[in-house]
Amino acid sequence: MYKAILLSKNDDGTTAASLTQLDEAQLPADGDVTVAVDYSTVNYKDALAITGKSPVVRKWPMVPGIDGAGEVIASTHPDWKAGDHFILNGWGVGEVHMGCLAERAKLKGDWLIRRPDGMSAKTAMSIGTAGYTAMLCAMALQAQGVTKDSGEILVTGASGGVGSIAIAILSGWGYRVVASTGKLSETDYLKSLGAAEVIDRAELSAPGKPLQKERWAGVVDSVGSHTLANAVAQTRYGGTVAACGLAQGLDFPASVAPFILRGVKLIGVDSVMAPKEKRIAAWDRLANELDAAKLATIIQEIPLAEAITRAPEILAGKVRGRLVVNVKA
Ligand code: NDP
Repeated sequence: MYKAILLSKNDDGTTAASLTQLDEAQLPADGDVTVAVDYSTVNYKDALAITGKSPVVRKWPMVPGIDGAGEVIASTHPDWKAGDHFILNGWGVGEVHMGCLAERAKLKGDWLIRRPDGMSAKTAMSIGTAGYTAMLCAMALQAQGVTKDSGEILVTGASGGVGSIAIAILSGWGYRVVASTGKLSETDYLKSLGAAEVIDRAELSAPGKPLQKERWAGVVDSVGSHTLANAVAQTRYGGTVAACGLAQGLDFPASVAPFILRGVKLIGVDSVMAPKEKRIAAWDRLANELDAAKLATIIQEIPLAEAITRAPEILAGKVRGRLVVNVKA
């Protein structure tokens, strides 16, 4: 038997979440690597799944948890053997395949990547999908030629998981980062991560003009909606916007003016189905280039049961940084 969070659908269509004991016989038959999960996380998507606020879960009942780190117990996959240390992010785990907010999971070996040498399971999950996505966004800006000398970088949703780690990464690389937040009370925290300046997200969240004063050489946006539209409208000639999230909304109420008059590039960033080589490159850079002391200030460690009670706080934008789940606690 193992401890897990289980989501099931009530008769009225709402989601019920409970901490329970499952039998190993209930692990998914289509996995080829059985793992002990030491740490997981509560990402925005996990919070949507646990609360049922959005149709993230597409198979019932479901164990949530799109992220996991721990040790392989048994494997029939050629790349993995008992004792190996793994990281899992995405691939529909916690959505259509039983996830990692549980002491055990049965995953596909093709989905797993090796935990970099010297990186603990807790550190891997302190980064989690949010941090790995922040790195994908930062790498996307670099790939488009945005350098630290190009100009200022805007990070929206700054006090959230993606935003906090994006600030730490980009400031660590020497960029001048401007953090946009709804929590001006967290200004000291955002500056300690490396933000040179903190602005009120209200400056970006209302409908704006299609072309605005040019300011940003690059943008990491985890918010979407009017915030993304305004960020694009304020991006300098030839600049790049990496869009990965929808905390404000799924809509994109913008015009083509910044693209056709300023050559602005809008790059979509997806972590869930990203190819393995891209994941390994991102995790290598996270292992070597993310300041561990900053990362420690971004996280709160919680026991498994609290993943249920804290999920609504994430959706309400009340959590600073990341919730890291000690699955065994
Ligand atoms: P968090 O909940 O940790 O952070 C989101 C932040 O967005 C909040 O902390 C808040 O920051 C800001 N925010 C919340 N509500 C609003 C609002 N109504 N208007 C404007 N800003 C708001 O989530 P994550 O950082 O983990 O994820 C951020 C987004 O990125 C989510 O939409 C998530 O689904 C998406 N995502 C996408 C991935 C991909 O593969 N494309 C992978 C990972 C995440 P503040 O108070 O500082 O303004």
